[in-house]
This record gives sequence, structure tokens and C-alpha cells, in this order.
Amino acid sequence: MLSNLAHRALERAGLGPIRDKVLSKERLTEEDAVRLFEVKDLAAVGALANHVREERHGNLAFYNRNVHLNPTNVCVASCKFCSFARLDDQEASEGYTFQLDEAVEKVLSRKPLGVTEVHIVCGLHPTLPWEYYTELLRRIRAAWPEIALKAYTAVEIHFFAQKFGKSYAQVLTELKAAGLDTMPGGGAEIFAKRVRRKICDDKATAEEWLEVHRTAHRLGIKTNATMLYGTIETLAERVDHMARLRALQDETGGFQVFIPLAFHPEHNMIGKAFPKPTGYDGLRTYAVSRLFLDNFDHVKAYWVSLGERMAQTALSFGVDDVDGTVLEERIYHMAGSHVPQGQTESSFHRLIRLAGRVPAERDSLYHVLKVHEA
Ligand code: SF4
Repeated sequence: MLSNLAHRALERAGLGPIRDKVLSKERLTEEDAVRLFEVKDLAAVGALANHVREERHGNLAFYNRNVHLNPTNVCVASCKFCSFARLDDQEASEGYTFQLDEAVEKVLSRKPLGVTEVHIVCGLHPTLPWEYYTELLRRIRAAWPEIALKAYTAVEIHFFAQKFGKSYAQVLTELKAAGLDTMPGGGAEIFAKRVRRKICDDKATAEEWLEVHRTAHRLGIKTNATMLYGTIETLAERVDHMARLRALQDETGGFQVFIPLAFHPEHNMIGKAFPKPTGYDGLRTYAVSRLFLDNFDHVKAYWVSLGERMAQTALSFGVDDVDGTVLEERIYHMAGSHVPQGQTESSFHRLIRLAGRVPAERDSLYHVLKVHEA
């Protein structure tokens, strides 16, 4: 229920008509979303987003026990915001590529910790063979049958298709046969051509990214969706990005969660030009996405990208999921994230409880495994 105070704040901010649409479950337009972004009263927008969040999920905050694996950071693309990629796997350039045995061993070593999901993302490596990617999944699956394998972004799938002369459907079908369960949502950045041309002009286009996800959904593979905010995009371009995701979700229903990702400025080509987005910007992005993406069940604050404190605050601005224990994260730590490498489950519970929410462990497909009441 929205408090009287929130109603008054929304009226004062001129958001009465948008509030009425939200309360009567009428879909917001792109103009409504831009207006929500532009309004100065963040608390009013946040209260409305929190209303929707609590209506859907009550007081629960979801997380899972997961480990990240980045088998290689060698990449032929040159995204300007990226701090992770290297041109070769020479130690001097901090490039690396794990041997298959090494990569599998890294994952299996986490088995005693009760991890339920492995999140695998690679650079676009110029010479690794197709079998490297399939064999990696096959070996992990063989040694750990119950683990959920969330692997390879749409940008990687597009790269595999081009490099190995396969269609998206072929690539995904072969990966599924090797053990793939779901796909992460990375590589979406901002869909607008103007932005992509400037910050990531040599990887999958917006249309290709969306087509990979459309194909995955058709094959029964659930996927996530991200948006990188805080570089050169306008607010209207953020809304356009979300509108394209909402349209695909109407068509397929295959997205599980929307994850806004804050730009991190350290060790990349544009870090000097753009500071890290403010907490204010992060919170309004979460709130607007919760209100606009009416066909997405979940909005996630990736605590590694956002920081623990902001992730806690985001749980009252539309967010219902704070990712997972995230053991072995590399991509954001190479971009200057100062949060710890992974969380224990109890520290994660504490983080959620101190934000006034109840921790709910979920699996990769958002089935609740256990609600941890205090
Ligand atoms: S964001 Fe991904 S595709 Fe772009 S340079 Fe970094 S690793 Fe490569």
C-alpha cells in the first residue's frame, strides 16, 4: 500500500497520472518512463517502485549460491568501457586462458560450499576451438550433474556462430546438449546505434543480441537481460533499451530478470571521461525499470557492480534480487570494484536482513529453495 505521504509526494511531483496507471496496472509509455527519470523527487518514484516490488514479492529478497568462471579474458573486441579484456594471453599483459582441466577444477573445488549455479562468461578468443566451449560444459556437467550451468552471453553466441559457421539455433542446441541450462544477460550495453557505434562498435549489434535471446527462448532456454548505464547514453536511450526488452518479453516470455549495471571507470578507455554513476542515478534506474518492465518478474541489483550498501538501499527502490555469493568475480574487480571477493551465505543474510528484507535462496530458475526467516 502506498502511504498518504507517498501519494502526496507523487502529486507534488506531477506524477499523479503515472501513479494512477501503475495502481490500475496500465502499461507505462516510453514518455512516462522518461518523465520518471527526470523527476527530481527520487523518494516519490522509489515509493511507487517499492509498491510494485512488494506487491509482487512481499518482503522477500532473492539470492543464490553461485560461482563465476571467466575461462579467458582474451578478446578480439574493443569495447571502450571494458577493463577485463586483453589482446593476448601473455602474463605481462595480464591476459590469461585456462586449460580445460584447470577451468573444470576451479568450478569443482567449490562443490563443498553448496554452490548451485556456475556463471560462465569469456572474452571473444581468436583461436580457441568450438570444442573448448562445449567440452567445458560437458565435463562440469559430468562431474557435477545437479549444478545449474548459466553460460555464454549473446555476444559470445553471436561470435561462435560467425567463427564456426553455425546458426544461432545450432550453437545453442549444441551447447544445450553439452549441459547449458540458462544464459546470462551480458553484452546488451545500450541498444541505441549512436551509443553502440561509440562504445562497442565491433561486437554483436542490438538486433543480433535480441535475435540470439529470441532463439534461446524458442529453444526453451531462459535468459537474463542487462543494461550498462552511466556512459554516453541519454535517458531516452535507456528507456528505448528497456522498451526493446519489454517488446521481446511480450513475444517470448523467456527473460527471467532485468539487471541494470553501473559503468565502472577504472582501467578502461573512457574512465577518465565519465565518472562512476551516482547512487542517485542507480536508484532511479532501478525504480524506473521496475515500473516500466511490467512483464519482467525480477529486477536485480548486482551487488558487485553497485556495492553492498547501495544494493541494500536498492531493495527499497524496486529491486527484489541481489544476485548471489559470487565467488571468483573478475570482470568488475578489474574495473575497480572494491567489494570483497564473494560473500559467505551468512554475511549475505545479514546484508539482506539489515535492509529490512527476508533472505530467500533461489535456484537458477527462480524457484525458492529456502526462506530464511529471522
Ligand atoms: S565487454 Fe566483452 S566483448 Fe567487449 S571487450 Fe570486454 S570482454 Fe570483449
